[in-house]
Amino acid sequence: MPGDLKDGRIVIVGASLAGLRTAEALREEGFAGSLTVVGDEPHPPYDRPPLSKQVLLGQATADTTGLPMRRDPDADWRLGVRATGVDLLGKQVLLEDGESLPYDRLLIATGTRARPWPNPEEAALDGVFTLRTREDAGGLAQQLAAGRSACW
Ligand SMILES: Cc1cc2nc3c(=O)[nH]c(=O)nc-3n(C[C@H](O)[C@H](O)[C@H](O)COP(=O)(O)OP(=O)(O)OC[C@H]3O[C@@H](n4cnc5c(N)ncnc54)[C@H](O)[C@@H]3O)c2cc1C
Repeated sequence: MPGDLKDGRIVIVGASLAGLRTAEALREEGFAGSLTVVGDEPHPPYDRPPLSKQVLLGQATADTTGLPMRRDPDADWRLGVRATGVDLLGKQVLLEDGESLPYDRLLIATGTRARPWPNPEEAALDGVFTLRTREDAGGLAQQLAAGRSACW
């Protein structure tokens, strides 16, 4: 990493796989400035693939899929708060709680969203689930353990 990039303030929006691995890589490459990771979920980074496999098979619980850290990225974790915008001229990330985070460099690693069931009335029916988060997987696993079957 060139010397002029080793300092300053980096904000990463998205506290999941990409956000965590980027934070780790920045430190590995010698970034010594301030690092802030913003995530709208309340959890530290966790792995999603097991949510639709081991968790639904009852081989793991949804709260045990945390991503291992390869190194401590020495970051300020701002979890459970959504970024609502970016002031590009002022170089600030705007948070839903009204705070703003100044940055010199910004990474947006917000991944994707689950596509909702197209018909809202049907989506509201008992037994229709979205599977994206820990909470989703935990709820579905509970239903399966109670004897319901699933199709998708
Ligand atoms: C149930 C399930 C099973 C999967 N199985 C597999 C598999 O078997 N194999 C495979 O290769 N991939 C699988 N995937 C996909 C894999 O999990 C993703 O590719 C991976 O999580 C992408 O990581 P990411 O960090 O880019 O994004 P994400 O994991 O989507 O993380 C983005 C994060 O940013 C947060 N965020 C979004 N907007 C904001 C905002 N405005 N402010 C703050 N935070 C925000 C999100 O809440 C989320 O926490 C699966 C995904 C799911 C949901």
